[in-house]
Amino acid sequence: MTLQSSMSVEEYDRQLRHECGVFGCVASGPWPTNTDVSQVICLGLLALQHRGQESAGIAMSEGDNHTQFKVKKGMGLVTNLFSDDAVKNLKGNLGIGHTRYSTSAGSEEVNCQPFVVHSAHGALAVAHNGELFNAGRLRRMVLARGVGLSTHSDSELITQALCLNPPDIEIDGPDWPARIRHFMELTKLSYSLVIMEKDRIFGVRDPYGNRPLCIGRMMSLTDTDKEEGWVVSSESCGFLSIGARYIRDVYPGEIVELTRDGFQTISIMGRPHNRPQAFCIFEYVYFARPDSIYEGQMVYSVRLRCGIMLARESLVEADIVSSVPESGTAAAHGFSTETNIPFVEVLYKNRYIGRTFIQPSARLRKLGVAKKFGAIAENVAGKRMILIDDSIVRGNTMGPIIKLLRDAGATEVHIRVASPPLKFTCNMGINIPTRDELIANRMTNDQLAKHIGADSLAYLSVEGLRAAVIDKMPNKNSKEIGHCTACLTGEYPEELSF
Ligand code: SF4
Repeated sequence: MTLQSSMSVEEYDRQLRHECGVFGCVASGPWPTNTDVSQVICLGLLALQHRGQESAGIAMSEGDNHTQFKVKKGMGLVTNLFSDDAVKNLKGNLGIGHTRYSTSAGSEEVNCQPFVVHSAHGALAVAHNGELFNAGRLRRMVLARGVGLSTHSDSELITQALCLNPPDIEIDGPDWPARIRHFMELTKLSYSLVIMEKDRIFGVRDPYGNRPLCIGRMMSLTDTDKEEGWVVSSESCGFLSIGARYIRDVYPGEIVELTRDGFQTISIMGRPHNRPQAFCIFEYVYFARPDSIYEGQMVYSVRLRCGIMLARESLVEADIVSSVPESGTAAAHGFSTETNIPFVEVLYKNRYIGRTFIQPSARLRKLGVAKKFGAIAENVAGKRMILIDDSIVRGNTMGPIIKLLRDAGATEVHIRVASPPLKFTCNMGINIPTRDELIANRMTNDQLAKHIGADSLAYLSVEGLRAAVIDKMPNKNSKEIGHCTACLTGEYPEELSF
């Protein structure tokens, strides 16, 4: 039996927004290839759909002497945009794709990616994940050089900045690596890029490594020693579904070139004043799919360790541990393992309700038809429970969940949050509400517990989160390792520059 919460989909979904997912694929061997590159990209984007659901796009090239790209992009989910026929019409030997949430620019069709331009040096397609720290300055520079911009998107800005001949250095025609390096000199945060020219793709990560990017090798399904192509992706979670193996992350500051012959490092740019890397720690907490690999470790394992650290820091007597599905589940398992308090499911999440286009009428809304969760009452009745969630943003979603659990018979509900309190905005590609809207800036733990109707509430500490991320990292002793925690601590990797 389940009871249902009165929280609306709109309330639940107004959480942190991911920014974007990027993907690229080059077929190996002689061209034209038999590998269905556009289908691979489509599946790759499907695996990155959690990073952006507003729009999607693919640009394809046939390579060699072809100067025109085939492009399809638009608003909506990958499955809505790319029918079988649409994918077949995108034949080619290499291509890049993008899934998008809007951050700096609006969500209009004109901002869909990849951005494609036909420059004096040939066609160029660019897909971007991140948000430029110094976008205003770069925009003024591009405009001052006589180039018009048709959108407010950072991605168009990057594309135009790459095509411009720098006034201060000699770049010989279509020397794209030199142009990319020059762009990286101008702006160090925050971007992971896939850039396609006629016969190669560049994967580029900003010098701080703020946003993720990794490389995979695509193998033949009939001869597992035979290589079929190379892919570059925001996350590795889709690699198995396209027959690819994770090779490694693109290094912070690295430009990597993918061609039909393989991949190679073009250059690696350092950080100003030898500052540490600043990979977004919230990728581990919230954004990434748990089956992705970052920095040589699976995201799921880090979330499990967050639960272990949380248990060490803020244990309370209880009969069961549970989670808000699915975001807090890995941490809840970690908490349960550490404390020997059994993990029991108490909430059912309706996976379909967020995808409906039906807007409930006022009458149905009053009846609470738009439901996201149901309580598994038999598991809840008479129980003292610890409920784990991965984060609390505005604090307006937990109250209805707790009420739902109490209505189902829970005697105590203790909230444990598997990340530290969110107190600052991001400016690096994640839509975090204003500081005033972040509940951790307005209430202490006890005030918040009272506000949402919990018996107690505690967050994971910043040190606990850092330990969960770093403890099992293969190269954890490297001086290079570093993570952005700006939304938790207010310590930004660089000064904002307008
Ligand atoms: S401020 Fe937070 S969300 Fe933004 S990059 Fe840093 S850790 Fe990630």
